[in-house]
Order: sequence, then C-alpha cells, then structure tokens
Amino acid sequence: MTIRPITITGEPVLHRRAEPVEVIDDGIRELVADMFETMDAARGVGLAAPQVGVGLRIFTWQMDNRDGIPSRGVVINPFVSASKAPVGDPDPHDESEGCLSVPGESFPLRRGEAATLTGLDLDGNEISYAATGWFARMFQHEYDHLNGFLYVDRLQGKWVRKAKKAVKANEWGKPGLTWMPGQDRDPFGHDDVDDDYEDDVIAEGGHAGASEDELAR
Ligand code: ZN
Repeated sequence: MTIRPITITGEPVLHRRAEPVEVIDDGIRELVADMFETMDAARGVGLAAPQVGVGLRIFTWQMDNRDGIPSRGVVINPFVSASKAPVGDPDPHDESEGCLSVPGESFPLRRGEAATLTGLDLDGNEISYAATGWFARMFQHEYDHLNGFLYVDRLQGKWVRKAKKAVKANEWGKPGLTWMPGQDRDPFGHDDVDDDYEDDVIAEGGHAGASEDELAR
C-alpha cells in the first residue's frame, strides 16, 4: 500500500466526470488499498478516486454513525440520491464542510438531511445504505467529486466570493498541484496539540465537534 498525493482544485481530473469501473481487477484493488491509506494519513472521513488523480467512480469512507452503515467502506460505480436541501442561508457553525482538495479551508452549504447510496463493494456485490446527518452529507460530497464538482462549486451568496478569494490567495486553480498526507503539514490542523477541538473541521464532511445528537440527526 502507498500513500498517494492528493490533488488540489485546478487539477483537471477533479473537474470532470469520472469514468465507471469496468472490471474490479488487481489494479482496482490496489487503488482502493492506496485510497484507504491516503484517507487515513490525511485524517479524512471520505476520499474519492479523482482526489488521488484517478478519474474512476470510486470513493472510500471512514465515519462512525448510527445509521447501521459500516464505519469503513468503499463503493464502486455508486449512485447517491439525497433529500432536497433546506432553503435559507447555511449555518457557518453547523453546516461547514472541508475538502482535502481545498486543503485547510471551510465554508458552509446546505445539503439534504438524508441520502441513499447504492453501488458495488470490492467483491462486486451490490450494497445499499440509507444515511442521515453528517454521513448523508459526506455521501453527497463524495458523489459530487465523481461528477466533477467540489463543494465550493455549490456555495451560495457571500460564500462564493470568500471561497474564490481563498483559492486565489493560495494560488490554486491551476493544474498540477498536490499535497502529501503524512509529509506536508496537516492542512486541517489535526497535528496541532493546542487546537480547539470544537472548531476542528473534518475534511470531506464537517465539524469534528459534531455531537452524537448531530450525527444521529
Ligand atoms: Zn472533497
């Protein structure tokens, strides 16, 4: 297994629709093993194949939940169907997401409270899960990656401008940029001992400060 570099916004593979997996062979199994190792090294709760530079329809996750879904999993050729996002302005405290491909940044957006995931596991068996709350948000975030969208593409109002400024300030938005989990400084501050845990953003999902109640919501 190998930790792979994580692509940063501007890399074309992040901004185009990923291709279906035709055959689950040794190459796919190796890619998935690498994705798990990369996700763990980056402390992400989810990771989509385009984030390691591979334009295939695969994502992994690592997230505790009360939905009866395995806390660690992978889906191949997924379909995610979500309930309609509530109208109104998003709450910056409760609805902020982070993305390993927009490292260190966090912006709020509304998502559906419930989502169903169908697809194949690594053995080619059909899986089907119904998720709520943060788990549903993560499924929607990862599925967006496979369709060429980042969460910052879905922002509204003043958050559009703030995200654009952040991308510009970091000199992202061009091809070829990556960061290396385990080597580069953790962009979401997971290594900082004196960090305020409540304000910690879990990349690819939401706040580490989300309570059990919020997880169960
Ligand atoms: Zn992401």
